[in-house]
Amino acid sequence: MAYLTQPDYVKYVCSCGQMKPITSLYFCRHCLKIRCGFCICHEVDSHYCANCLENMPSSEARLKKNRCSSCFDCPSCFHTLSTRATLTQPRPDPAAGDAKVENKQAKKMYYLSCFNCRWTSRDVGIPDQPVASGGWPERTNPYAVRINQLLEYYKAIAHQEKQERLDRERKKFPIRGKYITLTDKTGLTGAMARNIAGLPSSESSSSAIANFVPSQASEEVEELSEDYYTKEVNLKQITTMAQRLAAGAPQPTSVSRLQPLARALSVKRSQRCRACDHNLTKPEYNPGSIKFKIELLAYYHMPEVKIISYEPVKPGETTALLLKLTNPTGHEMQIKFMQPEDIPEPEEIEEPQTIEKSLEKSLNLEKDMSWCKVVQRKPRLRAAGRLLAPDQTFTLAQRDDAAEYDDDAQHDTSDIIVWRKLNKLALRLQVVTPAEAEGVESVAGVALALRYSYRNTVPPAAPRDHTLHATLALHLPAIMH
Ligand SMILES: [Zn+2]
Ligand SMILES: [Zn+2]
Ligand SMILES: [Zn+2]
Ligand SMILES: [Zn+2]
Repeated sequence: MAYLTQPDYVKYVCSCGQMKPITSLYFCRHCLKIRCGFCICHEVDSHYCANCLENMPSSEARLKKNRCSSCFDCPSCFHTLSTRATLTQPRPDPAAGDAKVENKQAKKMYYLSCFNCRWTSRDVGIPDQPVASGGWPERTNPYAVRINQLLEYYKAIAHQEKQERLDRERKKFPIRGKYITLTDKTGLTGAMARNIAGLPSSESSSSAIANFVPSQASEEVEELSEDYYTKEVNLKQITTMAQRLAAGAPQPTSVSRLQPLARALSVKRSQRCRACDHNLTKPEYNPGSIKFKIELLAYYHMPEVKIISYEPVKPGETTALLLKLTNPTGHEMQIKFMQPEDIPEPEEIEEPQTIEKSLEKSLNLEKDMSWCKVVQRKPRLRAAGRLLAPDQTFTLAQRDDAAEYDDDAQHDTSDIIVWRKLNKLALRLQVVTPAEAEGVESVAGVALALRYSYRNTVPPAAPRDHTLHATLALHLPAIMH
């Protein structure tokens, strides 16, 4: 029996049509809709190193190429490298005589070592360092100059294209809209605003385009060595594809050229509802904290459905299905089962319009808004069976953390309710499978819909009660793991 949330067996239909387990879903308290990772905005809040927990602003992370300057990964197995210390005796100096050497203190030297595969920085001839915090020599990328030229060139082109587009738009709409532009209000010039926003000025970009030398294709190719096909290959000396690609710029082919990899930074993300722009999750800034300031997970706001057990689904038969419903909210919840097709159609998504958006527009830093038009697709509910929805409306008490430890469940005498315990309810339901249903021997699906009451306590408005709907797909394989 799969445990906890049954991600493979119970899936909820998101408002965008994706089917996801409840643990992968969010619940927007402002739109009162389910959202999934596919239909929300992901924003990077902060960059940090998962190894040393140092955090940094995004500008610094960009400068460091999103790598930590003090942590390294093993270039051979990608495990974190550890700094090891050894004592080295200073070499006897024949000119000074041996007696002096004995007085000299042994010196501590440091090298990097992998505890997983035993790779060390000494293997590739990196000299031991006198300080533990690094200063590890870096091999320069032979193509660094050319790459920087290319980067600058493409930045300039992107800037030029944007400028042209803006000029065209300005001609089309010579009078600005009703929005107060930042430039009008503060007396900023366009160039200053660009500067603040970190965009290149127009003069520097045109010179970058003019001075750029394009690459030339050449017919002359370096000859392969004579013994290229006959030389025996020693796989121990050749890097794997993963090792090669992990070392971005040099991409060494020989293991003797492997270098410690500066550890890639991790990010903390916050997530935003695309329709109303409110945050769905916002982590605490401190990289050591796993807490959230805002955490609107569906798991805390929607009734959770778990399969307790079921009779194997057979075509043309009515079988039993035992479900457990849980109310995770702090308010009493009324739940009624429905057929998915009886759920009222959702209204259209309106285009978000906030002050921030209009400010962005005036600064010409408009965000890509194409995501507003997320295609509302109908989920493909491949259900073999139908749930016989009982007429009854079930009431689930609010969650009570203190009562979680009570063991007593009330066994009900009714046909449908098996037992009831605080905010949990076990139900015995019936699944009808039509005789012509195919493939139910191995995998069967049951689609069902829930109508549930939800008390929204989002400030500043007073608590309000809503009636919401959710569509679920239950997966009932012949054998449940
Ligand atoms: Zn979605
Ligand atoms: Zn680090
Ligand atoms: Zn290793
Ligand atoms: Zn929303």
